[in-house]
Amino acid sequence: MKVLVFGAGQLAQMMYLAAAPLGVEVYALDVNHREVINPVSKAKLDMSIDYAIQDVNVVTAEFEHVPEDLLELAEKSGKLHPNMAAILTGADRVREKQILDSNDIPNCPHRIVNDVSELDETIQALGNKIIFKASRDGYDGYGQWRLLNMDEKPKLNQAFASLDLKRVPLVAETMLNFDREISIIGARNASGEVACFDIAENLHHEGQLHVSVAPATNLKKTTTQEATDIFTRIANALNYVGVLAVELFQIGDSLLVNEIAPRVHNSGHWTQKGANTCQFEQHVRAVLGFPLGYTKSQGVTAMINIIGCTSFSRDLLSIPGCHLHWYGKEVREKRKMGHINIVADSYKDLGDKMLTLLQYLPEEYFPLLKDEAKRLIAS
Ligand code: ATP
Ligand code: MG
Repeated sequence: MKVLVFGAGQLAQMMYLAAAPLGVEVYALDVNHREVINPVSKAKLDMSIDYAIQDVNVVTAEFEHVPEDLLELAEKSGKLHPNMAAILTGADRVREKQILDSNDIPNCPHRIVNDVSELDETIQALGNKIIFKASRDGYDGYGQWRLLNMDEKPKLNQAFASLDLKRVPLVAETMLNFDREISIIGARNASGEVACFDIAENLHHEGQLHVSVAPATNLKKTTTQEATDIFTRIANALNYVGVLAVELFQIGDSLLVNEIAPRVHNSGHWTQKGANTCQFEQHVRAVLGFPLGYTKSQGVTAMINIIGCTSFSRDLLSIPGCHLHWYGKEVREKRKMGHINIVADSYKDLGDKMLTLLQYLPEEYFPLLKDEAKRLIAS
């Protein structure tokens, strides 16, 4: 069987690697160059987009910002999973808020900003600490502006005046003082069965994910139930097939949805070694209609992103339970170059291994690692 993935980055690469043992071949479409390639070797495959769609059993996406004409082509073939509306919901924060609000799913207090003149009324409605997010094409904290004190208002006014807000409105959200960020990742198949992984706890720095730990520490059963319920309601509302990620803010015992990602997700990379079935295999299973895999965690895992950095020793692989996934991309500031998964038997053991890991890494690129290791050791 064959799957075509829209997008040719690391997620398609990891899907390819997870699908191979199932006898499933994965092609990737580089949507910028409109070329079908092998997602691991990046070698160009001699086939047109139309041919590739016709040749595969299923078309899917590794990211939500796929040009709509391509999504339409795939949707028309009847092979696109998840469906086009679900992908577009993840690509557009206005649609995302609509689906959350219309299903009574708790999320951040927000307003849609269609014109720069609406800034004052937005501040009146949401308070004076606000995060503005471009409704489309943002990722890893790009396309976001923060208003933390009123002195910054003229600067924002100026920035927003240069944007085409009629075409791409902003979603303004109250800046929340949450206790932590968690995510729930799971799969839904065409018969509506849902299987979620354990919840991950996510640490961000400058709007970018640096570390995930799963299962999240100190998680009440009721919180897990609530997150699973939120996940299932969103997946059902979207008639979703495949792996879906839901990012959540936890405040006390309550949960608010931050955003949804209609795909495998960075905060699910820990499942490669930390769960019985990894998210990439699970996605392939779900979209091809195979039985969903067992999602149980195996030990506790930390996933550490390698961001903008290439200089570290492969000797880190000597740490028991430590695995490297390198994406083979050209280095750029703030670019995700790869990640490390470390599996351990306990949080203390995990924290110890993270401290050992730091001996092999330039610490300035991993600003959260030491404190998180210490926190896990103390937990
Ligand atoms: P990614 O692609 O990494 O998921 P993104 O660019 O899609 O990021 P968001 O997830 O919306 O953007 O925001 C990035 C980070 O900014 C969040 O993980 C969180 O740390 C912070 N953030 C976002 N919204 C809020 C909010 N309303 N209040 C406080 N912090 C927020
Ligand atoms: Mg996010």
